[in-house]
Amino acid sequence: MSEDVDDAALIERFPYVRIDHDSKHFYRGWLDERLLFNRCDACERFHHPPKPVCPSCWCASLTPTEVSGRGVIHLAMFLHQGPPAPGVDYAMAAHPVVAVELEEQEGLRFTSTVIGCPREAIRIGLPVELGWVERFGAPFPVFRPVEGS
Ligand SMILES: [Zn+2]
Repeated sequence: MSEDVDDAALIERFPYVRIDHDSKHFYRGWLDERLLFNRCDACERFHHPPKPVCPSCWCASLTPTEVSGRGVIHLAMFLHQGPPAPGVDYAMAAHPVVAVELEEQEGLRFTSTVIGCPREAIRIGLPVELGWVERFGAPFPVFRPVEGS
């Protein structure tokens, strides 16, 4: 379990992100495949990315709390990247990046990619749920379409 992972080991598990005091609970949750957002103990609002105080009421008492990971696509982008080459159409293999508004709270969004879905099906308003893939040897949160949507 991630409770056994100290801060130094946590940083080693995620060499590609910047982990600090405010975000360590968030990334530690990934090791257990849980998406933990800071929730204010005073006003009970979630926020993300992690901040030292609640952005709504400035209370400094925050509890990392698991969210469902269910929501709808709020914004979708397709990244086209790579060296130009004759006959290669990056548009065909563009990497999708979506901001998903989570069901827990209006305006609470998390950005990642979408898997298990053709590019044409990725649209604003599409219901999605959380999934986990392995990236650089550690769990990484992604979204996939809700079955039947
Ligand atoms: Zn608050």
